[in-house]
Amino acid sequence: MRRKLAAGNWKMNGLGAGLGELEELAQAHGDPAVDVLICPPATLLSRAADSVSNSTINVGGQDCHTGQSGAHTGDISAEMLRDAGATAVILGHSERREDHGESDELVRSKARTAIEASLTAVICVGESLAEREAANTLDIIGGQLAGSIPDIVTGENLVVAYEPIWAIGTGKVPTLEQIGEVHDFIRARLEKRFGAGVGRSVRILYGGSVKPGNAAEIFGVSNVDGALVGGASLKAADFSPIISALEAA
Ligand code: PEP
Repeated sequence: MRRKLAAGNWKMNGLGAGLGELEELAQAHGDPAVDVLICPPATLLSRAADSVSNSTINVGGQDCHTGQSGAHTGDISAEMLRDAGATAVILGHSERREDHGESDELVRSKARTAIEASLTAVICVGESLAEREAANTLDIIGGQLAGSIPDIVTGENLVVAYEPIWAIGTGKVPTLEQIGEVHDFIRARLEKRFGAGVGRSVRILYGGSVKPGNAAEIFGVSNVDGALVGGASLKAADFSPIISALEAA
């Protein structure tokens, strides 16, 4: 049985004053029936870890370098994230792929380093609107999976997040059939490459405009093991009902 996961990506949002949201979440969901992960900006990571220390909520990073240390001004290593209290790191988010030109190969290398530092790699894949309209979605996802996931993964240290780029922050959501088609495809690809044991234990999250109002129906789709949530993870009042919907799914 895969334990479900509600993950929040705060992106470049959040100051110390906003940590009250996390404390509120930890009070409301001290020991939830699903895993909860919040990925704040790196500047808040250790304080966020302290804020949730009396709960089972975990914190994670939003990116890491391929190396362990060295002359890389402005970068953060997986070991540093771990040292600051992270248990996981988001890698290959479409905003990193677009803003920083990250390739599948780079994401794979980062994921290898993250896993070697005992972090769970939350690897994002997703098609653009043009790719979907050209009926290339599954080819794109298949290529990203093959290129971005390192060979060393287990069912525990890998999470795949399917995030159609056109659904991120737009309020647009694929149909439940479209979500199911991609999640079933990802599951089949994972089983083919890593075998049924590992392939069936990797959690597959949906991400893209998940809100309290649409979470329950999305969580009912086959092979949806939770969500990666951007905007609606910033406020406890929005993220809490999403966690509850996942607990009820
Ligand atoms: C995200 O950035 O991973 C995301 C899914 O954002 P949003 O929920 O705001 O669409």
